[in-house]
Amino acid sequence: MHYLDNAATTKPLDSVCDVVYATMKNTFGNPSSLYRLGIDAEAVINDARKNLADVLGCEADELYFTSCATESSNTVISGVAENYGRRKKRVVTTTVEHPSVAEAFNRLEKQGYEVYRISPDEKGEITDEMIFNAVDENTFLISCMLVNNETGYILPIERAFRQIKKKYPDCITHCDAVQGFMKIHIKVKRFFADCISFSGHKIHAPKGIGALYVKKGIRVAPLLVGGGQEKGRRSGTECTPLIAGFGQAVKELSFTIDERFEKAEILKSYLLEKISQCEGVEVNSKAESAPYINSIAVLNIKSETLLHYLESKGVFVSSGSACSKGKKSSVLKEFKIPEKRLDSTIRVSFCEETTKDDIDVLVSEIKNAQRELCKIK
Ligand code: PLP
Repeated sequence: MHYLDNAATTKPLDSVCDVVYATMKNTFGNPSSLYRLGIDAEAVINDARKNLADVLGCEADELYFTSCATESSNTVISGVAENYGRRKKRVVTTTVEHPSVAEAFNRLEKQGYEVYRISPDEKGEITDEMIFNAVDENTFLISCMLVNNETGYILPIERAFRQIKKKYPDCITHCDAVQGFMKIHIKVKRFFADCISFSGHKIHAPKGIGALYVKKGIRVAPLLVGGGQEKGRRSGTECTPLIAGFGQAVKELSFTIDERFEKAEILKSYLLEKISQCEGVEVNSKAESAPYINSIAVLNIKSETLLHYLESKGVFVSSGSACSKGKKSSVLKEFKIPEKRLDSTIRVSFCEETTKDDIDVLVSEIKNAQRELCKIK
């Protein structure tokens, strides 16, 4: 199997599986219970929270566990509007966000808020200036992703949010950092984001676990109310095994962020070099995009047709974004990817287990697909 769809999800680490299983078996108490079993479960959660806080350089009590990044971002967007959107009515985002953010803003728009969406310029770029200029004194929330999930494009969040917080300190800044987390260094102190969303299953932790950073002092109304777990931010009995697995993945990967990034850069260069020798294959991702997400178009073959052809050869990639389930992506168009490539784009995404052999097989099967599925002059 050649799994090249790590932006969709990743295989859990062996150590993560072990920790999840052991926690499920041995630490099954309710973390809210006052007796030993509960206290042990609470300790597991606190350890995982500490692992996350250490890697992000924040306080442990600024972090909340959720079920996924979608929940984290939905919580911020609706919860900030509830607390800060009474007097001011304007919010800002981009046109290239993941649906978990885009749809939450669509909902705000239906509720009567003014939503301004920053669209990439003619070069397919969003500069820090464009982000800064989109905010004004009536804006109470801005949400921009760190790494785009379809192209690997890196948005200049640090520079833009720094300028915004300097001029408009009351504007809440949120970042969906899902595709950058544990791949590039994110230190919240330098990041100028008041809230950040993270997902477990993109970093070799299980599905069903996410996290949310909320800077001390920022008021985010909860999405889920009830028993008041996670200091009232997220009611519902904590999923101790998944939290423990998330903490394990963070701890293990935290030592190798630079090493894995360099490896992804080598793989990206190798992929691009091989692709440059193929007729009819064009690259959508920019040279400076995150190296582990590569968007390429195999002209004259529909993405889904190629995806299933590659699947039959044991090679797994996705067509654009996994969440779009074959739907034509508006995000690629927003990045000014030429029309002829839109229907023919696949996404190839790496993890530390990806090898040059995986890429060799991919490229060779793309060539076979071209021979079998279309006629290139
Ligand atoms: N944000 C980005 C950029 C993503 O790529 C994804 C998943 O593909 C999400 C958010 C949603 O994450 P989750 O599956 O944890 O809700």
